[in-house]
Amino acid sequence: MDLASVIKTFETIVPKHLAEKWDNTGLLVEPAKNISISTIFFTNDLTEDVLKEAISVGANLIISYHPPIFSALKAFRYENWKDRIIMQCIANNIAIYSPHTACDAVEGGVNDWLLKCFDVTDMVPIKSIDETNSQIVECFVQGGDINFDTILGKDIDFTVLTKNSMDLKCIFKILINSASPALVCQKLLENPRVLAVTSINCKQPDSSKLTGMGRVGKMKKPMKLIDCITVVKNYLKLNNIRFALGVNCTFDSEISTVAVCAGSGASLLKGVPADLYITGEMSHHDILDAIHKKTNVILCEHSNSERGYLEALAHQLSLKLEGVNLAISKVDKDPVSIV
Ligand SMILES: [Zn+2]
Repeated sequence: MDLASVIKTFETIVPKHLAEKWDNTGLLVEPAKNISISTIFFTNDLTEDVLKEAISVGANLIISYHPPIFSALKAFRYENWKDRIIMQCIANNIAIYSPHTACDAVEGGVNDWLLKCFDVTDMVPIKSIDETNSQIVECFVQGGDINFDTILGKDIDFTVLTKNSMDLKCIFKILINSASPALVCQKLLENPRVLAVTSINCKQPDSSKLTGMGRVGKMKKPMKLIDCITVVKNYLKLNNIRFALGVNCTFDSEISTVAVCAGSGASLLKGVPADLYITGEMSHHDILDAIHKKTNVILCEHSNSERGYLEALAHQLSLKLEGVNLAISKVDKDPVSIV
């Protein structure tokens, strides 16, 4: 299967436009034009050990939950471990795709997976993404790349979703989040290289209120705190977790509401009323704030709160792809351990 078709299929499961604006998601390394994919390899973090494993299983595409390239690179030098990884991927004809915060936001994504360690109801995102006001504008441009930041200005919140080149033309699909499509079309058409624009209502038939960052839900049946800790350890296959007891709580306290944020949860969880927070990591002062609001805190270490989701993601993809092997890293692990 060619790379473009694999990515197209993957993005039906995890749409790229759901990622945070600050993130660096999508196809990050494309070693050659439309390479053929026989093995897709999933990892939470792409380290040098993980890359060795990916090469040993014959991976042509690595789906790395965290983007291995984040800030702009001005040089590729052997002395930098991240640069070595990118260079080795290119040398071995391996593509890298990172979905990151699109997985955090999508329904059925990493936060739904994490909260589903309990039997919960009334699950809602902590920070919703409202797709109902979004529109896609299709823009036909003469020549190659064009700078939409300059054309549309700072006040229009947009994301370029796709670019297709045809002869001497390019067709861009642009997701517009915070402006009228008519205004966007007018601004685009003022540029002499823009040949035509069309506006499409992009509300997906399956878009739902469960799109957004973090999740909070109610236990169908309240559980004792001590039992919640056991459930989380078993679900994440961890012998140890870090834990902070809420003020005036005990291990027998009843837990009815749980809020989760896979990864680093402090900013998103701040002030969310819940009996229990589950996240990867939080700072000392954020933990103190939480426990003084009688919220108990489970910290699993950053990537331990994310990694198990890769199995669910690989399974979702396996249902849509034929003739492609899917492998999940066995070497990938959180750099922090409790000793
Ligand atoms: Zn993370």
